[in-house]
Amino acid sequence: MELKLYNSLTKKLDTVKPLNNTVNYYFCGPTVYWYQHIGNMRAFFVMDSVRRAVKYLGYNINHVMNITDVGHMTSDADEGEDKMEVASKREHKTPEEIAKFYWDLCYKDMKALNIETPEHICPATSVIPEIINFIQDILDNGYGYITEKGVYYDTSKYPNYGRLSGMNQNDKLFGARIDVDEEKRNPADFVLWVIAKDNHIQKWASPWGVGYPGWHIECSTIGNKFLGEHIDIHGGGIEHKTVHHENEIAQNYAKCGHEVVDIWFHLEHLMFEGGKMSKSKGNIYTLSSLIEKGYSPLDLRLFFLSAHYSKPQNFTFSALDSAKESLNNLKKLLLKHKNGENSIKKDDILSLKQKFIENIADNVNSPLALAVMWDALKTYPFSKDIYELVLDFDKFLGLRLDEVKDEITLTNNVPKEIIELAEERKNVRIKKDYATSDILRDKINSLGYIILDRPNNEYEITKK
Ligand code: AMP
Ligand code: ZN
Repeated sequence: MELKLYNSLTKKLDTVKPLNNTVNYYFCGPTVYWYQHIGNMRAFFVMDSVRRAVKYLGYNINHVMNITDVGHMTSDADEGEDKMEVASKREHKTPEEIAKFYWDLCYKDMKALNIETPEHICPATSVIPEIINFIQDILDNGYGYITEKGVYYDTSKYPNYGRLSGMNQNDKLFGARIDVDEEKRNPADFVLWVIAKDNHIQKWASPWGVGYPGWHIECSTIGNKFLGEHIDIHGGGIEHKTVHHENEIAQNYAKCGHEVVDIWFHLEHLMFEGGKMSKSKGNIYTLSSLIEKGYSPLDLRLFFLSAHYSKPQNFTFSALDSAKESLNNLKKLLLKHKNGENSIKKDDILSLKQKFIENIADNVNSPLALAVMWDALKTYPFSKDIYELVLDFDKFLGLRLDEVKDEITLTNNVPKEIIELAEERKNVRIKKDYATSDILRDKINSLGYIILDRPNNEYEITKK
């Protein structure tokens, strides 16, 4: 079945139409100057869901993600300081050390969330010569100009500028940027290459002087390097729509003379206590802080799956608790199906699979896809057929359901102190000291957990 995605450019559902059955896919990656919080992780989870949807529907994929390790200013509209330089001064490390440290952490979290690794992950600093060539092409084609401060894109040369965000040259946002460089011809013009001040750390030689690239040119260049002049799907956070992606479109057109991206999709934010979860607001949680509180990364993944990417999702601990409980229930039901003796009519299995596919194909509707999975698990008698079907669904869901084992002691989401008590209890039970065993059970109980005994001194712990 064909994949349809909501295209922010045409403002309707468009069908993905790859050449040779391979979907060229670009997603704007992290700026590696600080910890990535679970809001950022929602973005990468959505990136992964679209990737998995493409594959589930039978296409091949060529997926590129950049790493921004230079040129992203503290404001997306080229103002303020370079985020990498700020971090470098803050932590007394080189920008390279900063980038490596925070990228390694980000990648670890992505793996823990079972986010598949894109075919190409490319740091901006690894493609400086390509960026310089791209800028040169923009200049040669008459879409750029040089000032004392660097090289700028002339937005008046691109008639469709503002189409993605629905703005025009007179809009407020564009006007707000007028003071940045008096030599700018139009308020919306944006920087392609910045001439570095003497104390700037990250800088490279270029035909226009020693400096560094703007943030927007990095994504156009990396997309062009790995995917060429045709990109089927380009995604990113909703805040990228008005500036960053508008600028990418303009740059691509200036170089190639035609539109490069077919479908632009944007995900809405993870919210916390009424606002966007963001580093600047300080209202953030990281994945490791949730793990310390006793949640597993897959609890968070199930929580993410339960909302559509095009809607903001509100983060609360009670919602995360529900996801955690659901995951435990899911695993239990799955095991019952695994050991089930019934057989299910082929037509029923086919119709469940068809519904699942339809939901994915319809703008990657993960909440409805999840509902089909629950329907399969709950309404049919225990059967290996359902077990196999749900494992197939998991190619999209990514909940590592194939790793759920019969003999599991369900402790992976439980705080360390509870597991220690449970292990102590297991040892006293082996010694047949049931009096102490009961005391320990009560203690676990009073801390909010229930321990259930399984054969061979194994146990299962669930939250009350
Ligand atoms: P950054 O490292 O700031 O460039 O962000 C990496 C990705 O996370 C971008 O695609 C952002 O749009 C996205 N992002 C940042 N904050 C949130 C949030 N609260 N919810 C969802 N995505 C976010
Ligand atoms: Zn980008």
